[in-house]
Amino acid sequence: MDQVVLRNVTKRFTTKTLGDIVAVDNFNLSVHEGECFSFLGPSGCGKSTTLRMIAGFEDLSEGEIELCGRPVSVKSKNLYVPPEERGLGMVFQAFAVWPHMNVFENVAFPLRIQGMNKMDVNKKVAEALKHTSLTGLEKVYPGDLSGGQQQRIALARAIVTQPKVMLLDEPLSNLDPKLRESMRFEIKELQAKFNFTIIFVTHDQSEAMAISDRMMVCDMGKIMQIDTPENLYNKPVNRFVHSFLGESTFLNVSVRDGKVFADGDAEQALNLAIPPEAAERMVVATRPNAIELTGGEDGYVTHVAKRIFLTDRTEYLIPVGSQTLKVQTPHRVSFSEGEKCCVKLVNPMWYPAEDEAAEKERARRQTI
Ligand code: ATP
Repeated sequence: MDQVVLRNVTKRFTTKTLGDIVAVDNFNLSVHEGECFSFLGPSGCGKSTTLRMIAGFEDLSEGEIELCGRPVSVKSKNLYVPPEERGLGMVFQAFAVWPHMNVFENVAFPLRIQGMNKMDVNKKVAEALKHTSLTGLEKVYPGDLSGGQQQRIALARAIVTQPKVMLLDEPLSNLDPKLRESMRFEIKELQAKFNFTIIFVTHDQSEAMAISDRMMVCDMGKIMQIDTPENLYNKPVNRFVHSFLGESTFLNVSVRDGKVFADGDAEQALNLAIPPEAAERMVVATRPNAIELTGGEDGYVTHVAKRIFLTDRTEYLIPVGSQTLKVQTPHRVSFSEGEKCCVKLVNPMWYPAEDEAAEKERARRQTI
């Protein structure tokens, strides 16, 4: 069964200085039972607002939300179930652990609110502490513990009520990279043990890719694509998704008389198969590690403008017309700066030329 369902969910805000903003524009999505589903996108794209609406901290402007088959927000019926009655586990960055309570009290808090008897509280807290490797630290105050341990308290507090759905908003952002990685595994292990559904919000695309079954990439309040990490990387639906996940390199091109010319070079065509839907102005997108760099003439003949030796690859900047293509190769492919070379784009993606208005709107949202 789908555990979290959003139907036509929209959220509008009115700001004093910048007027109306549609933070979440007609979102439709279903998160399946036991799935780890991430919201991903640049600052201001609507991730946190969506999560807050699911949690019940924010009302909707339009649409409806269902949790585990139960409507919890339905704008047309003015139905709104408060957060504490939604049965969710939450670890929010802003919801840090309470410093004035010891570990036991922090974790017991949600059970006390439910009015659970003392014996059951003790039992459930002991179990949650065991699963988060905090046993023995019951009387310690969070301030005396490490960042990772504090984050485990927040996790223990979230799982103690055995929720079916967990909302995690940048839960690892305060931790150093090594700890982040091990906490990711701990979260996945807890998920496997309890089979809860996770909605995970993060800025960090590699973190989202490592942890998620599916991800939603959004931009400027709109869903761009919902898919598996692999499909989002290999089959991005537009230029934005292409550039957001992994490294990208783009060429602005014109299609004329069945040939493709990079901007700045009207003479030498790029040897590319033109898709049927191609307009005159297009963007050709590829990954820097998916470009063939050779010494022959089979491709676009140019030269190496810059060579950068990195630990695991060599990076080249290659002029193509008035633009620069970034190419990454294994160290065994070696060209020196200024040397003649030939580039060939292997199965590139084609997108409509980016409009400037979109860039401006993206920037505006990040400043509100
Ligand atoms: P970040 O990654 O920076 O947290 P986000 O993707 O979570 O960004 P949201 O916080 O959901 O984005 O914000 C989406 C848009 O709605 C932004 O333009 C933001 O400024 C605006 N917004 C969010 N909350 C409010 C509010 N309470 N009042 C006015 N505008 C808001």
